[in-house]
Amino acid sequence: MQQYFIDSKAETDQIIDLDKEVLHHLIKVLRKDSSYTFRIADRDGKIFHAHLIDEKRCRIDAFLDENNELDCEITCILSLIKSDKFELCIQKMTELGVSRIVPFNARRSVLKIRDGKKLQRLRKIALEAAEQCHRNRIPEITKPCDLKDLKQYMSTSNYICYESETKISDIGKSDSITYIIGPEGGFDEDEYGKIVSMGFESVSLGKRILRAETAALYMTSLIVWKCQ
Ligand code: SAH
Repeated sequence: MQQYFIDSKAETDQIIDLDKEVLHHLIKVLRKDSSYTFRIADRDGKIFHAHLIDEKRCRIDAFLDENNELDCEITCILSLIKSDKFELCIQKMTELGVSRIVPFNARRSVLKIRDGKKLQRLRKIALEAAEQCHRNRIPEITKPCDLKDLKQYMSTSNYICYESETKISDIGKSDSITYIIGPEGGFDEDEYGKIVSMGFESVSLGKRILRAETAALYMTSLIVWKCQ
């Protein structure tokens, strides 16, 4: 069943105007009418059934007491890597339940995000993935950040995934976790040292050198598994 997010509060029996993109998708793309029930997720993360009443509006029907979010707040600081791989990570991390993704301008990052259009595209990917997997909330995709800005995104537990690390650390359950993944060329020594000195624990994901996107999805899965 199709789900759409609205940026206002919803209540049962309320009549609300739908965005033009939502109306276009429902009426023109899916060719649905008032007989079709879809899901509305409101700005507080509450989910309802709803149905169209005309070409612009819908009625909010039953409240669905569903919480598809994890108990743990997960933040991934993901170094900017090749566009298609970065976008794949946004989509898959959204499905896995990540709360926030921070694009990181690592020293060896080749890709740079120069304009709002790219960020808008990344946020659209997160929105569509959140709709598809029926999340209560859309993950936040922050503006790209530099090394000096990392501290603001730290959590109760913080990890840096480092391929030269030998310690397979036991990633414990926590109410909030932040982890950082390096770019295709890895972290440079000085950058790695500075991140560790901020309080990120260095962890290994095993003896094989994983591609950044593999490491990102592996680490996310490890943490999500702990949070279930
Ligand atoms: N320097 C590597 C490439 C970096 S891989 C090379 O020699 O090819 C990109 C990122 O994935 C790394 O910066 C690290 O964050 C993560 N990563 C890859 N393999 C890892 C491993 N075995 N353990 C921990 N992190 C890993």
